[in-house]
Amino acid sequence: MNYYIEPVARLINELSRLPGIGGKTAQRLAFHIIDLPIERVRELTQAIMKAREGIKYCSVCCNLTDQDPCAICSSHHRDHSLICVVKDSRDVIAMEKMRDYKGVYHILHGTISPMEGIGPDEIRIKELLNRVNNSEIREVILATNPDVEGEATAVYISRLLKPLGIKVTRIAHGIPVGGDLEYADEVTLSKALEGRREM
Ligand SMILES: [Zn+2]
Repeated sequence: MNYYIEPVARLINELSRLPGIGGKTAQRLAFHIIDLPIERVRELTQAIMKAREGIKYCSVCCNLTDQDPCAICSSHHRDHSLICVVKDSRDVIAMEKMRDYKGVYHILHGTISPMEGIGPDEIRIKELLNRVNNSEIREVILATNPDVEGEATAVYISRLLKPLGIKVTRIAHGIPVGGDLEYADEVTLSKALEGRREM
């Protein structure tokens, strides 16, 4: 039996579908939202709508952007012949914080994971191949996480790229095995990039 009136139940249900939000948290957030002045709620919903509507995928690197191509892909200060391949947009932020990397990126939006039913076609590998085929690329750095899925994805991509005569490197294991690029500190990440090896 449901103890909440329908609009409240619906709000709790929507909130609880967000990642990391359990039933109790959804309930707390819902009641917090209901208690807010109506203008604040309007600002919140508009911020959500604007973020969702105004953001698209860069047609070059597949990163989230509000302009196409994104700021990195259209920058004249970047080395466009050097591509760093990462799992998601948060990894780009981690790499950019380091300030050492002057190349560009390619965002896969996931890693190959047979356990979760994610095959090579579900992530942006095809886009990477098109890009490599259609522009002058000197090196592709595979910077997927050093976990099972990240390694499998790196091996898969390197097998596709090597026959094209492109230098393919893998970031060093400064990042602990099973670790997450996103949470690596800047020094570790910088060392991992510096110590990359040809695959
Ligand atoms: Zn881009």
